[in-house]
Amino acid sequence: MPANTSFDQTQIFDILNQGIVVLDRELCIVFWNAWMEEHSRLTRAEVFGRPIRDFFPELDSKAFFWKVNSVFKLGHFSFFAQNVHSYIFPFKSEKYLDTNHDYMQQSVSLAPLRDDQGRVSHVCVQVADETDTVLARERMEEARCQLEEMTRLDPLTGLANRRHLMESLSRELSRCGRSGSQVTVAILDLDHFKVVNDTYGHLCGDQVLIHTAKRLESMLRQYDLVGRYGGEEFCVILPETSLKSGFEIVERLRKAVAATPVPYEDLEIPLTVSAGCACTEDMECLSTDALLLSADQYLYKAKDAGRDCVQCSLS
Ligand code: GH3
Ligand code: MG
Ligand code: MG
Repeated sequence: MPANTSFDQTQIFDILNQGIVVLDRELCIVFWNAWMEEHSRLTRAEVFGRPIRDFFPELDSKAFFWKVNSVFKLGHFSFFAQNVHSYIFPFKSEKYLDTNHDYMQQSVSLAPLRDDQGRVSHVCVQVADETDTVLARERMEEARCQLEEMTRLDPLTGLANRRHLMESLSRELSRCGRSGSQVTVAILDLDHFKVVNDTYGHLCGDQVLIHTAKRLESMLRQYDLVGRYGGEEFCVILPETSLKSGFEIVERLRKAVAATPVPYEDLEIPLTVSAGCACTEDMECLSTDALLLSADQYLYKAKDAGRDCVQCSLS
């Protein structure tokens, strides 16, 4: 039995998941598929034979007519990429309510249709909904930023973590090498912090760390960096700061910690901190390890000296 090939092929256009519009030389609509009816809320009876500009005056500002005319003239294909134009036809949808986008994101292509003499008699406009792809791309980008942030921040205190500190210090040292300026680093270690945990509990210890992190951060300049170096140790990077000035800054931090106990529930937890400082001005070659080792050695001196003090090569 011969295959039955007779069916109304125009049905196919109405099941396509994209818009199909055909324009004649006067830019009047001669074809409008079901997808276009659904998204524009304009029936084909309303639009047939009418200039498309009557329904979408904003197409002018998208260089739409310019491109359509060039397809008529040159017979080539043309394209509006979503990442450049966002959309061509302003179609609203519930789907986009909670997003940054007012309208369906689209890529639109234009193709010449020829008569039996090979002349371009019509232009076919295809509209594809790219919103899901755009939203998925945006969610991926958001997740990537969050992940990057997580790799740089200490989850308990929200301060820079050790890795971020190391990267920043390394950058600062390169800058020192180029400009000849100085950077001072300090390592601050809470005194007898184990006693805080043992006396008031680990949760209280966490709150003391969070509180101290905020206090240190609030007392520093915008271009200084404080981070969590280890358990109850903080590291402060002071760019363009001599040892003398750095020492004074860290002394101010120490005094502030000692002067104000940390509130926790209805308690006031007394706290002190010891610190060691080191500056590039004391170093023969600039290295993050050598600078931190030196600050750490002065921190041990501060602990040996009875705690609640700052030590450096000046003291
Ligand atoms: P020192 O004055 O010599 O520094 O004494 P210390 O008790 O502060 O030092 P030690 O190294 O003996 O103890 C540090 C304590 O810090 C032990 C550890 O449980 C606590 N610690 C480290 N990280 C955290 C944390 O994230 N939360 C809490 N609550 N405690 C922490
Ligand atoms: Mg410690
Ligand atoms: Mg300690």
